[in-house]
Amino acid sequence: MSKRLFNFCAGPAALPETVLQKAQADLLDWQGKGLSVMEMSHRSDEYVAIAEQAEQDLRDLLGIPSHYKVLFLQGGASQQFAQIPLNLLPEGGSADYIDTGIWSTKAIEEAARYGHVNVAASAKAFDYFAIPGQNDWQLSDTASYVHYTPNETIGGVEFNWIPEVGDKPLVADMSSTILSRPLDVSRFGLIYAGAQKNIGPSGLVVVIVREDLLGQARSACPTMLDYSVAAKNGSMYNTPPTFAWYLSGLIFQWLKEQGGLEAMETVNRRKQQKLYAAIDASALYTNPINPADRSWMNIPFRLADDRLDKPFLAGAEERGMLNLKGHRSVGGMRASIYNAVPEAAVDALVTYMAEFEKQHG
Ligand SMILES: *Cc1c(COP(=O)(O)O)cnc(C)c1O
Repeated sequence: MSKRLFNFCAGPAALPETVLQKAQADLLDWQGKGLSVMEMSHRSDEYVAIAEQAEQDLRDLLGIPSHYKVLFLQGGASQQFAQIPLNLLPEGGSADYIDTGIWSTKAIEEAARYGHVNVAASAKAFDYFAIPGQNDWQLSDTASYVHYTPNETIGGVEFNWIPEVGDKPLVADMSSTILSRPLDVSRFGLIYAGAQKNIGPSGLVVVIVREDLLGQARSACPTMLDYSVAAKNGSMYNTPPTFAWYLSGLIFQWLKEQGGLEAMETVNRRKQQKLYAAIDASALYTNPINPADRSWMNIPFRLADDRLDKPFLAGAEERGMLNLKGHRSVGGMRASIYNAVPEAAVDALVTYMAEFEKQHG
């Protein structure tokens, strides 16, 4: 028997055990076909069926309208930072970006290589501990689109609302929040998400794009980065990340079995409430984020004395809780509690935090 510990990693993150078991059972001989999914031609009937089922399940989960394409691409969310302006920002054009932390800053820096970036709002004035309200945004008339990061994986701030941007396409980096609850996809021009947080394994980025935004890539855009080429070829212009796509499909099926995104929302709401309540009730742990803007998926917290970090992490590992160390730029701790992190993991963490506080507080 293998032992499965509680994994709070920010990414690549925990995957549901039953999904891994299914992949294991099918690893050598997929459904009696005598070969692994990893060894199949991406053009084979078997693989095309796997790929199409995964897309359909994702469409069902998110209620993706038919005038949106779903693309399964490589290069991670970071490549989207360039791919978005290459496709949506004409030469000499400008785009509005909202700065809420480290990931939005990376998106801004990359987009600035391709055109003018108007930082329409920044959380800097709040030390990145709060989301700037829409009333204070300086959106421009000339922007080709508005980009924001609904959940900042490192800082731990999250929008609990969708920005209103008129007829401009709203572009969202949903890497660490997609599928955590229902979403009105029709409010967006483009949604992208690196898979390794809340979708599946690394090596895959999912892009959901409204069809009217296709076909506008600038001439210097590499063929491989042109959304319309990917869309026309069913994300198989070249060899896609077949195994990551397949495994993500198993996750989509698992999410359906859990009751879909409404059910995930119920569990995720409870999980984050438990953890924030434990932090707020203690004298040892703090989370600096404005309560209305707290992330459901990534919860950073500090101990009152940095010297307790090491013993805290060591004790957590002894109890089977992995990867609670905070991001190097923030310090302290971070618990990432994505869909695949069971509520029992949060319960175990909360119990341990109280125990540790009793000993060291
Ligand atoms: C992890 C993450 C990224 C980077 O993803 P890669 O797939 O590693 O490029 C970008 N944005 C957000 C919000 C993330 O959480």
